[in-house]
Amino acid sequence: SSLPSSGPSTKFELERETELRLEVEGTGPVRVELVSGLAEVFGTELTRNKKYLFPPGSRAAIFTWHGCTVQLWGSPDVAYVSRDTPMLLYLNTHVGLEQMRIQAEREGERGPRVLVAGPSDVGKSTLCRLLLNYAVRRGRRPTLVELDVGQGSVSVPGTVGALCVERPADVEEGFSAQAPLVYHFGSTTPGTNIKLYNKLTSRLAHVFNLRCDANRRASVSGCLINTCGWVKGSGYQALIHAASAFEVDVVLVLDQERLYNDLLRDLPHFVRTLLLPKSGGASERSKECRREARDQRVREYFYGPRGSLYPHAFEVKFSEVKVYKVGAPSIPDSCLPLGMSQEDNQLKLVPVTPGRDMAHHLLSVVPLDCGGTEEGIEERSVAGFIVITGVDSERQTLTVLSPAPRPLPKCVLLIMDIRFMDLK
Ligand code: ATP
Repeated sequence: SSLPSSGPSTKFELERETELRLEVEGTGPVRVELVSGLAEVFGTELTRNKKYLFPPGSRAAIFTWHGCTVQLWGSPDVAYVSRDTPMLLYLNTHVGLEQMRIQAEREGERGPRVLVAGPSDVGKSTLCRLLLNYAVRRGRRPTLVELDVGQGSVSVPGTVGALCVERPADVEEGFSAQAPLVYHFGSTTPGTNIKLYNKLTSRLAHVFNLRCDANRRASVSGCLINTCGWVKGSGYQALIHAASAFEVDVVLVLDQERLYNDLLRDLPHFVRTLLLPKSGGASERSKECRREARDQRVREYFYGPRGSLYPHAFEVKFSEVKVYKVGAPSIPDSCLPLGMSQEDNQLKLVPVTPGRDMAHHLLSVVPLDCGGTEEGIEERSVAGFIVITGVDSERQTLTVLSPAPRPLPKCVLLIMDIRFMDLK
């Protein structure tokens, strides 16, 4: 390929417990190779003499416990070695969780359920990834519960989900999501429909409990729950709700002492709440950067992480689809029918008539059972996603982009606020 792997390169000698931090933006991809010693990226060990690709938009740290030499090709926007990392504290946290798993194993109990909270860009997802990697490297099978509807790592934005982690994350692609459990939320912030958000959280907890009942290893391994950076008002209440729905044992708060104190006050006393520092490498991302990351997730869903998948494009008639939006727009309280609350409205399935407005929207495909009932559709898991790439009002057809060939299964489509421009 035309990627930089010959050409000029820079060598970094890393001392023990230091990391090489990279930010790759507009300057094209960067390649990294571990030449000697041992190193890891967010808990995944690097293979020596293998070249790893970091495309524009990536941020990463190559950390070493014992010292190593790393070679780098390309010109990242930022590349520096830091000695000041919280990794020892994160490792101690892992050791603590592992002790809880050993005890759970011994006493026939369940392992640690851990909620990770904090404002945006403090490294919550990264800490989850690290702790999951360390657990799976010790032979555990922890579950990643993704409650971040904006920058999630289980499925596309606008969803919540869970994934059983069976091997360390791929350095370039993250955790492989072969059969994730995914629920439709519909937008990138929980605030658009907090009732639905909390309901889906409870649903995930319920399904996780069932899995733990059936699978001892999953139960002992526990879970890591990644949350949104929205920690005020209803966002805070949603954290409390998640902690109670999952009956968490441990809460890790990154960076924010105020949030830590609030949680310490409001959670039951048996929940171990810990404040951990953020890594200096977890730097703020702009709105643009976040939008680009979301787009990238959707693109990856359809085209594969390396552009290795070929989605299908086909037409469907307006009359062939049933599209709903979850949640009616709020109306003045005085206009609500008697006995109905604003909150009931948030779970209502509102039919959407196909038309021009639908163009570029992302939709969740929720299969119907043989009975064809639509009851509780908003709580059912999603089979996949499509994007409406074109609308022909005259011919009454939609053109869709889909990972599977036509026809669409017997399903209901739930429309998201999220749009995706298919420019490929
Ligand atoms: P959000 O609130 O958006 O979910 P977050 O709190 O989950 O954010 P992360 O996504 O984990 O934060 O981290 C923010 C960015 O910083 C990511 O791009 C991540 O790869 C990067 N990052 C985290 N830790 C480091 C580090 N030690 N060195 C370099 N980059 C890092």
